[in-house]
Amino acid sequence: MARYTGPVCKLCRREGEKLFLKGDRCFTPKCSFERRPYPPGQHGQEAQYHRTRASDYALQLREKQKARRIYGVLERQFRRYFKEALRRPGLTGENLLVILERRLDNVVYRLGLAASRAQARQLVQHGHFVVNGRRTNIPSFLVRPGDVIEVREGSRKRAYFKEVRDYLHDRPPVPDWLRFDSNALRAEVLRLPKREDIDLPLNEQLIVEYYSR
Ligand code: SF4
Repeated sequence: MARYTGPVCKLCRREGEKLFLKGDRCFTPKCSFERRPYPPGQHGQEAQYHRTRASDYALQLREKQKARRIYGVLERQFRRYFKEALRRPGLTGENLLVILERRLDNVVYRLGLAASRAQARQLVQHGHFVVNGRRTNIPSFLVRPGDVIEVREGSRKRAYFKEVRDYLHDRPPVPDWLRFDSNALRAEVLRLPKREDIDLPLNEQLIVEYYSR
């Protein structure tokens, strides 16, 4: 599945907030948004002084783009997730976030095994994980309650996974819907995530409105 390969700090500057797409760099003074907190482009700096009230459409579009960029999903796949969310019972916006949260690359990130979702995606693609004993290298794989995610036996010997435990205390806590044994590098999905488990600055209602135009 294709992915965005352009400059990522631009995306934070476009959305007007830090999306933490680069991992450790995001927490240092090197963060582009800290240095240039205005939209990218020739007129970006002017834009911050001549702000006009954003239209409803602009707000909806920005929220949708923000969600897409945080999870690293391109438009076609995101739209597909929205259609799936629409089909499921309950609130469409919440369903959408739950689907995004269940992606295997996101789960690897949530466990603290990667500094960013982009890095988690790469780890998954390189075949370092097994789900229920089967090697799974598809970042968009959706986990279910009861699934067991482990670092593959052969990958545990790699320096990265030997050292990753040292970084875990600096990473955000593992959410309640996952149980993680950091010694065994093994996680279990206890239940589906709920909206309150998803600590992202997203207004999912605006995304629903965007696709319902
Ligand atoms: Fe965004 Fe991180 Fe780049 Fe800062 S360093 S602009 S938070 S991706």
